[in-house]
Amino acid sequence: MKDVPYKIYLEENEMPKAWYNLRADMKNKPAPLLNPGTLRPMTADELAPVFCDELIAQELDETTPMIEIPQEIRDFYKMYRPSPLVRAYCLEEKLRTPAKIYYKFEGNNTSGSHKLNSAIAQAYYAKKQGLKGVTTETGAGQWGTALSMACSYFGLDCKVYMVKVSYEQKPFRREVMRVYGASVVPSPSTETAVGRKILEAHPGTTGSLGCAISEAVEVATTHPGYRYVLGSVLNQVLLHQSVIGLETKAALDKYGVKPDMIIGCAGGGSNLGGLIAPFMGEKLRGEADYQIVAVEPASCPSFTRGKFAYDFCDTGMICPLAKMYTLGANFIPAPNHAGGLRFHGMSTTLSQLYHDGLMEARAVPQVKVFEAAEEFARVEGILPAPESSHAIRVAIDEALKCKETGEEKTIVFGLTGTGYFDLTAYQKFHDGLMDDYIPTDEELAKSIEALPKVDL
Ligand SMILES: *Cc1c(COP(=O)(O)O)cnc(C)c1O
Repeated sequence: MKDVPYKIYLEENEMPKAWYNLRADMKNKPAPLLNPGTLRPMTADELAPVFCDELIAQELDETTPMIEIPQEIRDFYKMYRPSPLVRAYCLEEKLRTPAKIYYKFEGNNTSGSHKLNSAIAQAYYAKKQGLKGVTTETGAGQWGTALSMACSYFGLDCKVYMVKVSYEQKPFRREVMRVYGASVVPSPSTETAVGRKILEAHPGTTGSLGCAISEAVEVATTHPGYRYVLGSVLNQVLLHQSVIGLETKAALDKYGVKPDMIIGCAGGGSNLGGLIAPFMGEKLRGEADYQIVAVEPASCPSFTRGKFAYDFCDTGMICPLAKMYTLGANFIPAPNHAGGLRFHGMSTTLSQLYHDGLMEARAVPQVKVFEAAEEFARVEGILPAPESSHAIRVAIDEALKCKETGEEKTIVFGLTGTGYFDLTAYQKFHDGLMDDYIPTDEELAKSIEALPKVDL
């Protein structure tokens, strides 16, 4: 094996030319999205008023393994990709671990996260269809920022419903979106029927992702020339994010490195689904084995404490039903939860893989996440996003285990983004004002009991 440099880059001509559709290799396919009215699988025609045509085709395609990345998207990718795969030599030394740690850093673009990988693809297909614009929701703001950048590149109008608590707490994110020409509305708003209904039922609510989704979908379906786009959870998003895993694998292959363990944080599952895609593909085809770990916040534990069942993706209950690990569409994480990853459900693809025992999940409490973030920042230099720091936590824990056992495991984790807009959370952590709110079984039971009754 050759000596591995601090950063492994790929040449432009080594970058992926096609995305990898993991579902093509799954024996047990993820369950289809259901029409909430008929409880039958959503057809392309039924999805057409909501989503862009080409993205619907990708959403429903579970047989084509490789889907070509259009040249226009590859040209945009070249502006900020390949992202570096870093050998965390400094962290290894600090931990005095025999483990070899690598991280794939996706924070090296203005939006500060991996979300741009899918935003640019979705904006491209919307433009190609001749649409005027797109609507979406954003929580912490990374997706909204990424989509704003992508829309301005292709000259599309972009309307973002931003969860009210984030709109108020993260004014700078909002301004970045406005730099790129997006209009940003705090959700719930009085602009939509569903927003007004939610405000009436819960006056003073600070909003949730599920509620912002309902608003964005309503606006897309009632305005000609508009469609709704989503930054995570959907199969199409995992498909676009496979560029992360494909680059990671190509870089590791260059140096003959085979990971033992792959770790990623999981909100809706898109970065993790993308990072693990080619590795999971090998696992599904019986060519290689990897230990794959999803890390989620203990305050929003969809995998580890949720139920594998059909549920709504949004609070307004207007979106299709998805079979996934879920805490229930009414679940809203405690207000002191600062670390993102607050969606109540999980990608249907990852849910199926988890259900089939092909990957594991761990839930970590937030103070420990911020401790890991800071330990990482101090030796590796990068200020990590709280979301990404969930993966750092488990990578460090695993490396420390190797120190006890003397195992020289190779660990790869996804460093999904930077934390410059999360300094209020870091401040709370430094001032000792952060705690670990973990929902009780009774609390979870409340939203889980409200799951729609679907018998198939
Ligand atoms: C959105 C986001 C996540 C979580 O979303 P997934 O779809 O689960 O990947 C993780 N890290 C960062 C930096 C994000 O912006």
